[in-house]
Amino acid sequence: MDLFEVTLRADQVMHVGAGKGSGFSSTSMSYVPASMFRGAIAARWWRLQPDADQQDFEDLIASVSFADAVVRDEANSGQPTLPLDRGKCKYPVTDCPPEGHRFDVATCETCGGRPQRPKGQRELPSGAGLLPSTRVALDRSERAKDDQLYRREALALGEHRLTARVAGTSEGLTRLGLVERTALRFGGSRSVAGRVHIESVSPTPIPPVTVTRKAVLRVELETLGVYVDDFGFPTPYPSPGMLRHSLGLDDATGCDIVRGFTRWAVAAGWHSKANSPKSQDFAVIPHSVFHVQVTPPPGAAVSVPSVVNNLGLRCHEGCGWAAASALGGDDA
Ligand SMILES: [Zn+2]
Repeated sequence: MDLFEVTLRADQVMHVGAGKGSGFSSTSMSYVPASMFRGAIAARWWRLQPDADQQDFEDLIASVSFADAVVRDEANSGQPTLPLDRGKCKYPVTDCPPEGHRFDVATCETCGGRPQRPKGQRELPSGAGLLPSTRVALDRSERAKDDQLYRREALALGEHRLTARVAGTSEGLTRLGLVERTALRFGGSRSVAGRVHIESVSPTPIPPVTVTRKAVLRVELETLGVYVDDFGFPTPYPSPGMLRHSLGLDDATGCDIVRGFTRWAVAAGWHSKANSPKSQDFAVIPHSVFHVQVTPPPGAAVSVPSVVNNLGLRCHEGCGWAAASALGGDDA
């Protein structure tokens, strides 16, 4: 698997995750989910070759995997979302660290408060925002109709870009049209909103994380994670088997979650081509974190990739992207 970082520039505002927009009021998400990115690429591909063979397309799209396209704050270290294993000051003063505290810090030395668990919301940097607009339906004499007021929220990027990770091969990306200057449409109200274009596609290395003795890795989800137990019931953590598979570890290496920091969400969506809802699964949100104790066999060293895209279920829809790093500190 090769990893690419794709930046997208918005030509219009976007209505993301608003469904068909049939209600009087609808909100927008603050990022573009992986499945919407994938769907937009697929829609464009089919528009250019309507007589193509379904199986050819299935093989092609299965070779590329998409992550969420999020708005990065380049001015502020690139990532405005605090991972769930950080502690955040509830009433911060000037010198409180903006990146929060380690999970085991009980008291902030600056403000004296107890750090709170963050909510994992993807905040937008200044200059980008969710803009409300209100419209009214008119009758034939152009008077406002009673009770027909519509409120729509739109994601406006300003000068910021959307950034998404994509895994696949350079050839697969080119065949799918995932190249510079390709124009795509995201979300609803596509006659007036949702046009973006791909600004750059850059190969990105995946440096391995090497573990030479018992150590704790920090695995942070970058998209939703869907996990079930042996009976199919939802669980907030991947099983050791799932973790081993995703991190590429063999059975001789110990692999246990010692701590998990998660919040529940639902993996769902709307399949535009089929015009039907996708099935819903309980999931844990992006930026959930697992602390995983990895124990290599005596005298051996193991290495795991620092980015994976297959931790759990529904990975073809963009769930299960995660970043692995050494936890560091006393615990490592
Ligand atoms: Zn503080």
